[in-house]
Amino acid sequence: MTPLNIAIVGGGLGGPAAAIGLAKNGHVVSIYERSTAVEAIGYGFRITPNSDHCLKWLGIDVVAGGAVTANTARMMDREGRVTREWKENEDLEAMKQGTSVFAYRAALQRQLLEKASEGGVEVKIGVKVISVDVSNNTLYFDDKTSTSVDLIIGADGVHSRIRPHVVDSSILYPKPSTGHSCVRFMLSTYTLLSDPIVSRMIDDSFKMLSWNDQQDKRIVAYAVDFDRSWIFTCTHPEQLSLQQTSEGSQADTIAYNQKISLERVKEIYKDFDPLALRILDLTDPNGFRVWKLLDMDELPRWSVNHTVLLGDACHPVVPYGYSGASMSIEDAVTLCVLLPANVESSQIQDRLQLYEKIRKPRVRRVLEVSREVSHGKENRELVEEYYQFLVSHDAIEFAREELAGHLTKSH
Ligand SMILES: Cc1cc2nc3c(=O)[nH]c(=O)nc-3n(C[C@H](O)[C@H](O)[C@H](O)COP(=O)(O)OP(=O)(O)OC[C@H]3O[C@@H](n4cnc5c(N)ncnc54)[C@H](O)[C@@H]3O)c2cc1C
Repeated sequence: MTPLNIAIVGGGLGGPAAAIGLAKNGHVVSIYERSTAVEAIGYGFRITPNSDHCLKWLGIDVVAGGAVTANTARMMDREGRVTREWKENEDLEAMKQGTSVFAYRAALQRQLLEKASEGGVEVKIGVKVISVDVSNNTLYFDDKTSTSVDLIIGADGVHSRIRPHVVDSSILYPKPSTGHSCVRFMLSTYTLLSDPIVSRMIDDSFKMLSWNDQQDKRIVAYAVDFDRSWIFTCTHPEQLSLQQTSEGSQADTIAYNQKISLERVKEIYKDFDPLALRILDLTDPNGFRVWKLLDMDELPRWSVNHTVLLGDACHPVVPYGYSGASMSIEDAVTLCVLLPANVESSQIQDRLQLYEKIRKPRVRRVLEVSREVSHGKENRELVEEYYQFLVSHDAIEFAREELAGHLTKSH
């Protein structure tokens, strides 16, 4: 058995997750990541039990890495009246499979990259891929070197360099606008608890709070990093924040992490609960960043020859369905199951087709619901039904069953 030589472009979340599993299968794996350091600008996201289960399978304990267990969550209307409270992680048996947590992106990325290195993956940091030749599986780097391998995995995020070589590059992906942006900021738990008014809300019982105007503005907050910090994500129609960040120039090209002033943020949320506005005042006025939310039509295919995409590179998810990171991790473990130790180079294309067949319907549903709940009044029935769909899926077992069925059919 000859192991595959695999190059993964992107050391975000899905890239290192795939690397860990593929190296465990015995393949020779390298990650190429353009950043020179793990970026704290990623802030955080929700890891739902379905993807925590995948991370556990890869040997990653997110709670040990500082992720905060999502216990009681409180939802409020714009003025701060409680509309719903719910508890998670109550079923201890189910928690053995996976937990619902809030993770700090930089911490999870670091855990994944460290685990990949320990497992023998060569992690090359500060190396930018500039192009790929999909006819002979060759990557070209910004230092003018290149490498040829058996399989290339494009896990290089929403602005993927690999994607235009897999699908028709004349089509513009992602869409120029979803109509929504979000302001993000982070505050230490200490600061929140030191304020006599805010501290009444940020106590031990709640790990997530949200204010929703039932139209198109929302503030969602949750604890991360061993409970030492809170992350705030404030979504709104993009024209409300574009004005300032664009300064009359390239409004459409502004994608993420632009500075925005405290005054502008307060203006956007001026009709919200005074408590939410008070939290804004506790924040470093230089700490507000605005991001455009991105979306993409379904790609006609996710792979060509021996080059395949995963995660945001093929299906960025607007954050309302709390699944961007989770879908990327599920994609990664699916590839790990489909490319075991005994797979041969001649079988790669067939397995990549199967990967797409397995993953597309699930990702499609996640995208549809995430778009549907992105504005307007909360549809509680839809959200509850979606949550069950999301968390009850075992991506590892599902891929194993699909592979077994596929092999039986083809013999
Ligand atoms: C900085 C950042 C912050 C984010 N914050 C949130 C959040 O708060 N909440 C949320 O739900 N989602 C967030 N997202 C999106 C969410 O993290 C994604 O859904 C999830 O990370 C998808 O994982 P991925 O591995 O597919 O892509 P990513 O995590 O985007 O990883 C892609 C990686 O590829 C690297 N890369 C890109 N181009 C090249 C190249 N040419 N050569 C080499 N390396 C390259 C990037 O530096 C990056 O590390 C964020 C994404 C990023 C990049």
